[in-house]
Amino acid sequence: MTTNTPGWQPPHCPNPDCQFHQHVSPAWRYKRKGYFTRRCAPKRIPRFTCLHCGRNFSTQTFSTSYWLKRPDLMPRLFLQLVGSMCNRQAARAERVAPSTIQRQASRLGRHCLLFHTLQLQQIGPTPEIVVDGFETFEWSQFHPFHHNVAVDPATGYFLHHTDSPLRRKGRMTEQQKRRRAALEASLGRPDPKAVRKGMAELIEVVTRGADKVTIRSDDHPAYPPAMKRLNCEIEHRITPGKQHRDQHNSLWEVNLLDLLIRHSTAAHKRQTIAWAKRRQSSAEKLAVLQVWRNNVKRRWENGAAVTPALLRGVADRVLTVRDILKERLFRTRIELPESWSRYYERGVETAALAVNRRHGLTYAF
Ligand SMILES: [Zn+2]
Repeated sequence: MTTNTPGWQPPHCPNPDCQFHQHVSPAWRYKRKGYFTRRCAPKRIPRFTCLHCGRNFSTQTFSTSYWLKRPDLMPRLFLQLVGSMCNRQAARAERVAPSTIQRQASRLGRHCLLFHTLQLQQIGPTPEIVVDGFETFEWSQFHPFHHNVAVDPATGYFLHHTDSPLRRKGRMTEQQKRRRAALEASLGRPDPKAVRKGMAELIEVVTRGADKVTIRSDDHPAYPPAMKRLNCEIEHRITPGKQHRDQHNSLWEVNLLDLLIRHSTAAHKRQTIAWAKRRQSSAEKLAVLQVWRNNVKRRWENGAAVTPALLRGVADRVLTVRDILKERLFRTRIELPESWSRYYERGVETAALAVNRRHGLTYAF
């Protein structure tokens, strides 16, 4: 049932200050308040009034297309984002401005951050986890960063991700070395402990509620210190990063996710001209890929019709994009992990940019 289905009932009051916002209660009273008309279908939108706080709202208040001029774009854009289309290509295909795609891609990202957080709350502890740092860059190759990712190797379920800005390393020409020095002098150096911090937060989130967990990773020196000071017992199994990365490698499941991210996201293709301008947008798009990977895409392309979420027991079937976008999720009703709260508010700053626009809209959530 979507908000457009006749007979749909609002589950709670949409006003964050109302006592019937957080908790769904049979004591909550509201009444119908006629309709308003709009230009796109369905044209007649039912309205309601909360009898407790007096807030007026409509079925649209609970829709993922709330306050959008082009509600039809979202489901298609979802698949374009995980189908390796860059923002400008999607804008041309849809005949809209690139800024429209950018805004709607961010909104999809925010919805997926909430969608995944709710789903992760229903999943019990994962006994064995594989983690890795997916290396990419923002703005230019002088600003590399890791998306730290965690996967359940038994089902392929993509559990969580955080980010860590890095200092450019590896082979550089003399000119590149001078450029790096100049950039670091004006913008500062990334935190040398960023990988440890990003990995620590990742592991803290994915081990919540567990007493004992086995974590597989490569031999990155920042990982062992990231596993200290946790509330659960950890057995760390290290596979050298140089070992051949095929199906027989114990990190196979996370290597597969890395491959899927590179294959499905325009910004992370090798030698692309569609690289991410902001780490912020990259995290939003990764959240979309995560929800798609766990719920929509089959575990194996040529196998049975199962998804990681189905195998983990949090979905009863393979979901469609329409199922994912069925209903608006309220940030005010869902607690997010630290980094994800920053992603939601667009609070991740790209050092090379003078202005980092945040998400401060009230209605276009
Ligand atoms: Zn209310």
